[in-house]
Amino acid sequence: MDDASKSTPPEGSTAASAAAAGAILTIDLGAIRENYRRLTTRLNGVRCAGVVKADGYGLGAGHVAAALMKEGCDSFFVALLGEGVALRNVLGPGASVFVLNGIPPGAERDAVAADLSAVINSPEQLAAWRTAARGAGRRLPAAVQVDSGMSRLGMASGDVERIGADPRAFEGIDIRLVMSHLACADEPDNPANERQRLAFERMRLMLPAAPATLANSSGIFLGQSFHYDLARPGAALYGINPTPSEPNPMLPVVGLQAKVVQTRLLEAGAGVGYGHTFHAAAPMTAATISLGYADGWHRRAASAAWFGGVRLPFLGRVSMDSIILDISALPPGTLKEGDLVDMLGPSQSVDDAAGHAGTIGYEILTSLGPRFHRRYVDG
Ligand SMILES: *Cc1c(COP(=O)(O)O)cnc(C)c1O
Repeated sequence: MDDASKSTPPEGSTAASAAAAGAILTIDLGAIRENYRRLTTRLNGVRCAGVVKADGYGLGAGHVAAALMKEGCDSFFVALLGEGVALRNVLGPGASVFVLNGIPPGAERDAVAADLSAVINSPEQLAAWRTAARGAGRRLPAAVQVDSGMSRLGMASGDVERIGADPRAFEGIDIRLVMSHLACADEPDNPANERQRLAFERMRLMLPAAPATLANSSGIFLGQSFHYDLARPGAALYGINPTPSEPNPMLPVVGLQAKVVQTRLLEAGAGVGYGHTFHAAAPMTAATISLGYADGWHRRAASAAWFGGVRLPFLGRVSMDSIILDISALPPGTLKEGDLVDMLGPSQSVDDAAGHAGTIGYEILTSLGPRFHRRYVDG
């Protein structure tokens, strides 16, 4: 699958050919598979799902899920009903697809038709799924989500207690998972983690017995007591460091290269880019590359590109479709129109770019836009 024209372009993609595109995004499915294996090793026999919401963190949910299935992954999580329907169409029957944000009221039939598993976040959603089961004439799969202390999604303790005491609450529903989500898993010393775990334990016991799941990527690294029966990593699969205070145990997955569209000599005193926020103090060489904030490259993400291991600092502001680089560190004539410089890759990780922008790797990845030529490799 080296050529994106042979693979399904992501939704909304213009699927630019490599020659026409301003930048090339390379997604290493082999690295995603290796990251999955690293996590399963750490999980020591506990099952591992794949979180592929937001189109697989921007990398192509269908491609990612198919790669993970080769490693034995049979459970996937998306955020939205539409994401679940799209994933089911790509994967075919078999794997479980859970919809984290719940099934919107009135859309239960669409979820049933695509054989999606509802994540039930409220008594109302539970009632709607029961009704859908009666209508479908079969038991419907679900995960019951409880709020163990993040205050985002899932049932509060009082609701869990009430539902747990009602023998008819789960009529027609096949409870595949009881789940909750950690707010501070990337801070291993934060006492909120253990508080959430204990709250999860308490609420689980109020519900019918079912496999439990609590850990996201970082949660896997909090230790075995957080593993339960299934882990739900996203970020770590995509190469984001799940242990931000320690070296990244995962392989990088994404490469982003931008094309040089012009090189020039700057005279002393030349103003560079919008607002002339940079002036050349002495004669220097510059290159303009075809990548900008309209590609989802944050104006503050990183401050340099790389070419053959040489750092090429940005000059002035990032534009909508271009960035100007200082290429004085390269011998004259080295960089030519059409050459590719590295924006994300071995010299500059997704986490590096995020740190510079004051954001997180998740936002860098999910921002990467549809104008790129996307290349899937599976090494
Ligand atoms: C996004 C999400 C995950 C995956 O989290 P990562 O930090 O990317 O591993 C797991 N569970 C839930 C409920 C989520 O919303």
